[in-house]
Amino acid sequence: MTLTDTLNRPLRDLRISVTDRCNFRCVYCMPKEVFGPDYQFLNRSQILTFEEITRLARNFASHGVRKIRLTGGEPLVRKDFPELLAMLAEIPDLDLTMTTNGALLPKFAQALKNAGLKRVTVSLDSLDNDIFKSMNDVDFPVEKVIEGMDAAAAAGLTPIKVNMVVKRGVNESSILPMARFFREKGYILRFIEYMDVGSTNGWRMDDVVSAREIVQIINQEMPLEPIDPNYRGEVAERWRYKDGGGEVGMIASVTQAFCRDCNRARLSAEGKLYTCLFANKGHDFRDLIRSGASDEEISQVIANVWGKRADRYSEIRSENSIPLPKVEMSHIGG
Ligand code: SAM
Ligand code: SF4
Ligand code: SF4
Repeated sequence: MTLTDTLNRPLRDLRISVTDRCNFRCVYCMPKEVFGPDYQFLNRSQILTFEEITRLARNFASHGVRKIRLTGGEPLVRKDFPELLAMLAEIPDLDLTMTTNGALLPKFAQALKNAGLKRVTVSLDSLDNDIFKSMNDVDFPVEKVIEGMDAAAAAGLTPIKVNMVVKRGVNESSILPMARFFREKGYILRFIEYMDVGSTNGWRMDDVVSAREIVQIINQEMPLEPIDPNYRGEVAERWRYKDGGGEVGMIASVTQAFCRDCNRARLSAEGKLYTCLFANKGHDFRDLIRSGASDEEISQVIANVWGKRADRYSEIRSENSIPLPKVEMSHIGG
């Protein structure tokens, strides 16, 4: 029987964060002032083991999850990450993918493919090195990320998708160059509205460049038309170039809430399940698993948590009714 929440939404998509650590310090996600040298990251015993993650993933799959996205922090900094992929790849009928900043892709792309990864999403916010470096805040160059994308494409991790977070006054000037470049390359570029996740990035509505504005900017030079979603609950609104030059996506989580069809749950590195990106509390599955719970019991808890779910944060954002602090993006991975 399909599991549905109080708003009749099924559970289809599970995002698993495999580490809270990252080799970047993106200003909108892990600002250096907060995630500095003294920041206490989770230690090894606090994060789920590969066996624990796989056991939970299997259980979620039995409840109807059909897509698993691995994320972080930066998933490729987790030791032996391809081994986890190989374990998850044994779960039948699963769309297995990941989001990465791309820095370590040249080294790992082939191993990821061999382990059973289907495709990859790589984040890149600008083609301009000054802008990109000011955003990743660790002096990481654009060329290396593109090298990572190309390594993934060569390994067959396709279609490659590219995530670009747009922050006003920082990288709007990169919208057109990015669109031109990835249209040429044939990678699917997705623009993400800067979101008020967590409570450390100092988010302000004024910093958001809306998806509508982004479409207008591209449309003036390269006319676009909307196309149908691939499936119900797809996060990115799809647009294609009228001349047949491929497509782009808009993730308008701030200006056009898509809670109505939201079928996603998120498992943090320490085993907490969040039923909304903007949740302030997660349900602890690590304690449950480590206290010797059976698969049946775990399954029952998943059903209870999802059955009670009523989240629709983006739809009610304007009411400003959600108490702080919210979970950080680097804990649940987007
Ligand atoms: N480290 C990996 C990466 O950057 O691709 C995976 C984790 S990252 C948290 C997942 C996605 O969330 C990235 O595409 C990132 O750009 C996006 N992201 C992080 N903070 C965001 C924010 N405040 N608003 C919108 N997107 C954000
Ligand atoms: Fe790291 Fe990704 Fe967050 Fe950037 S967006 S700090 S790469 S986790
Ligand atoms: Fe889903 Fe929460 Fe985002 Fe709404 S705000 S789309 S419920 S994650």
